Amino acid sequence: MSNRLFRPDYGGYYFAKGDLACLESREWALHHVFGEILALTEEEKELEDFMEEKRQLMAGCSVCCPHHICAYPPAEAFGVGKEFIRQNDLFSKVFRRMPKGGLLHVHGAAALSAEGLIKLMLDWNEKNGDRSSRIRILNAVIPAISEKYVKGTLFYEYQCRKIMGNTLPLEDYLKKPGNWKRLYKMLSFKGRKLLKKSTKTAKMWERYNIILSRTAELFQNREFYTDYYEAFFEECVEDGIRYVELRCGFERFRDAKTGVSREQSGEYCAKKALYFKDRLTEVNPVSPDHAFIDAILDAGERIRQKYGKDALGVKLILTAQRSLNPYIGKERECLCKRIDATAALKEHYLKQGKEVVIGFDLEGPEDGCCKIDDYAKKIIYKPVGDGYESMGKNSEQIHDMKGSSGQTMIEKQKLRIERIDFFLHAGSSNWFFNDNLKTAVIISKHRIGHGFNLNRIPGVMHGIARGPKVVIAEPVFEICPIYDQTFGYCRDFQSHPLYEYIKSGILCVIGNDSPQLLGNPGISFDMWEAYMGMGLTLPMLKLMIFTTYLYEFMDYNAGSIEIEKAKLKFLRDWDNFIDEVQECI
Ligand SMILES: [Zn+2]
Repeated sequence: MSNRLFRPDYGGYYFAKGDLACLESREWALHHVFGEILALTEEEKELEDFMEEKRQLMAGCSVCCPHHICAYPPAEAFGVGKEFIRQNDLFSKVFRRMPKGGLLHVHGAAALSAEGLIKLMLDWNEKNGDRSSRIRILNAVIPAISEKYVKGTLFYEYQCRKIMGNTLPLEDYLKKPGNWKRLYKMLSFKGRKLLKKSTKTAKMWERYNIILSRTAELFQNREFYTDYYEAFFEECVEDGIRYVELRCGFERFRDAKTGVSREQSGEYCAKKALYFKDRLTEVNPVSPDHAFIDAILDAGERIRQKYGKDALGVKLILTAQRSLNPYIGKERECLCKRIDATAALKEHYLKQGKEVVIGFDLEGPEDGCCKIDDYAKKIIYKPVGDGYESMGKNSEQIHDMKGSSGQTMIEKQKLRIERIDFFLHAGSSNWFFNDNLKTAVIISKHRIGHGFNLNRIPGVMHGIARGPKVVIAEPVFEICPIYDQTFGYCRDFQSHPLYEYIKSGILCVIGNDSPQLLGNPGISFDMWEAYMGMGLTLPMLKLMIFTTYLYEFMDYNAGSIEIEKAKLKFLRDWDNFIDEVQECI
């Protein structure tokens, strides 16, 4: 499907009909690649019976409840029913123990659970005798700073000297009764008011930005950044995840010694924190700073030292905010530089023999921002170097690059889409006229984030399902159930289209998106909701999990997958799980 053709004469994009003509190909792929995976053994059938019995029992109880107070739990907001799920034996006995393979959709800025984050910050303050690196919390907001910072913003002492009087050391703040809960609410979507069915999606996105503006300053410290990812990876390992593809923005470190806070222009506003963070963090497109990636790799290494050399693999998809407008010069420049820097970083690690940076993505709300079409025409299908050449210092660097060798010059002529893979978010919308997916299926070669409204564009859906005879019929959809519910795209899991996608032959995997805000660390909560609320079957769960193993054993650069290795690893993990689960059901 993803033939990546761009034809202005076809109104932008052109679907190669030849690619769509192979009607039986999905059955071919399912049979050849997944046949062995999808067939259930006697033990697995027993497990499936056990799971279905539990599901039916819960559905039956909800319907027959004489007091009409017992709604079917997957029909409730996740934030309200979370404790119930945690205590449910299907969750603790089956989903928690299930091998998850890869977590392919999670955002770095909100990856660690809110509980984990608070614990990490307290530990940080305890181990940091150096006062200037201690974390303080903004406790009283005065009018002079109310546009820039919201109550609960967290800083290092060296970053907030000017407003020190309005802040408290975090541990002192938390000593006051009720403040732990207060902070937890400020760092997540917890709270019934927010989860009310009437809360609009746009409002949730505003809250999203405000919440992440509270922690944005902390990521400027390399040590903390590394500890943060270590803690996040630990949560992954605890949930049976063995591979993470992390979406993260560019970060520039400023430690306590060099530590002035990030320059903030007058127009900075906490409600658009991530947008401004991208605008204010300068990225060099030719030789980008890779310290933040090294820090994430260090965190992964710490986990492998602790749990063994195969414990966790990490690859990165770098991102920019979708609220940057490709029609505004300065913002287009920011986007262009980030994409070119991503390609440069990909090369940087490949030269060391490591595949680390695999692609680029635009994150943030789709509605209210430009369409993917606009990014495609103005940026993605433009040559590398386009969009900022005339800008002072960088033009010299580009000039040098041109002069250094003929080969580099040819490299520069390549379109961005030829230099880097895109893993775009698309289809997170309830608007009928959001057809971002039409473009995304062509640009995103391997996967698409969310893809919620795919069933509204049947032509695209059938096109993917009937794609060419390949091992994985791509793009694969990264479905994040709890995200879809909390942001209001699908309030009730029973009306979620995931089952329909899988049945139609669309390959999907499950991600958790933003565990800090959504309260869903690991993938178990999302899987429980998908199984209970959307009526999936055990083979469907196996199919989704095995697909993530294929990506773990994928070399994106060479475009090859070690299928046998992936199968072997999956079957070993899965058989262990079946043995273990037999004893407790
Ligand atoms: Zn996402």
